[in-house]
Amino acid sequence: MTEANNIFNAVPCTFCGCLCDDIIIEVDGNRIVKNTNGCAISKERFIGHAENRCLEPTVSGKTVSLEKAIERAVEIITSSKRLLIYGLSSTENDAQREAYRLAELTGSVVDNTTSVCHGPTILGAQESGEATSSLAEVRHRSDLVIYWGANPAAAHPRHIPHYIRQPGEYIKDPKNDRKIWLIDIRETTTARMVDRFIRIEPRTDLEVIQTLRALIRGHKLDVSQVGGISIADLEEIAIAMKSAKYGTLFFGLGLTQSWGRHRNIDAAIRLIQDLNAHTKWGLLPMRGHYNVSGANKTSTWVTGYPYAVDFARGYPRFSPGEYTAVDMLARGEADALLNIAADPVAHFPRSAVSHLTKIPVINIDPKINMTSQVAEVNIPAAIAGIECDGAATRMDGLPLYLRKVIEPPEGVIPDRDILRMIIKSLEKVMK
Ligand code: SF4
Repeated sequence: MTEANNIFNAVPCTFCGCLCDDIIIEVDGNRIVKNTNGCAISKERFIGHAENRCLEPTVSGKTVSLEKAIERAVEIITSSKRLLIYGLSSTENDAQREAYRLAELTGSVVDNTTSVCHGPTILGAQESGEATSSLAEVRHRSDLVIYWGANPAAAHPRHIPHYIRQPGEYIKDPKNDRKIWLIDIRETTTARMVDRFIRIEPRTDLEVIQTLRALIRGHKLDVSQVGGISIADLEEIAIAMKSAKYGTLFFGLGLTQSWGRHRNIDAAIRLIQDLNAHTKWGLLPMRGHYNVSGANKTSTWVTGYPYAVDFARGYPRFSPGEYTAVDMLARGEADALLNIAADPVAHFPRSAVSHLTKIPVINIDPKINMTSQVAEVNIPAAIAGIECDGAATRMDGLPLYLRKVIEPPEGVIPDRDILRMIIKSLEKVMK
């Protein structure tokens, strides 16, 4: 890696779970002026990083010093009986670790955005194990790649061009040596980038997966179609999957959040296990936020559980559906929210948002978002991977070091340092 003047090479892009680490960033003074190799989203993230920034701490809409904002945050936390700490997927691993420290100190519930995206993936993996691989392995070896319920063209723009359409050690000519399929309920933009699009009827993912499993195991079926696909076509798909030398199934929220949820993932894992009796297959989730995988790993490392963790009894307990943020809010259980690097008001269902607007909210985020509009305390943070360093985990579990390429706005510090300030003040008042 070389670094000359104001050019930063090999910068990981902190937007989506691909964490593309070949971005070249050009800085003029303290301004990012060029992003080479990044997709359109990445260019917007880096070049437009100053847009819509939250620059000063506020309490009830009034600008205050950082110390005053921390003081009010500490008051809210100490008067709360059931604090919910949420977010963490768009920040770096050290900030996540501090959030878990704070949860343990205060006996709070801490959840990350996994509970509204790939939570079922984790539950499925806990039930059935995991046959996984790395993105590099896929690029070098995979001759059949299937996306199921994912739209990388929109959500992970470089996933196909950067990892899948590139030649690898054993895939010299990816256009001919590797086939890319998409299974989805609608013809998305990704359908135009793949070799074959297979449309299934909505909410039939589980039936289609189980049918493929039955066919791969050699069973005869006495129905003519499943999920809108004829049995003849499903037999042909099953044979193609068994004939691949190295297959990879990438899946997105179209699978995790459709009918069946974690049962879909459980079935997909078992499909991969069935295929592994014949050939080599791996399964990988298309993780959305750039460090949602890190949020799970940090949580598991610190508490033993990946998300939805309650410290009320002084030790961690895991219960999705009970300690997940949407459920805690929709039940009216949380009496204060500490939100870090997420926008629950924009993404949560109305019942959860309705309660959220009735409780004090402390919001730590670099940008003004919908949650900052309802938060009593807003504390601006430096953007990880642009204005501060750190570590994050790619969708396949590979940890990457994030780079600082410019200084944050004056007085703005990283999430981890804001959380450390809160913890320090809490330790004093809780003595
Ligand atoms: S695909 Fe994702 S990580 Fe890669 S450059 Fe685009 S937004 Fe960034």
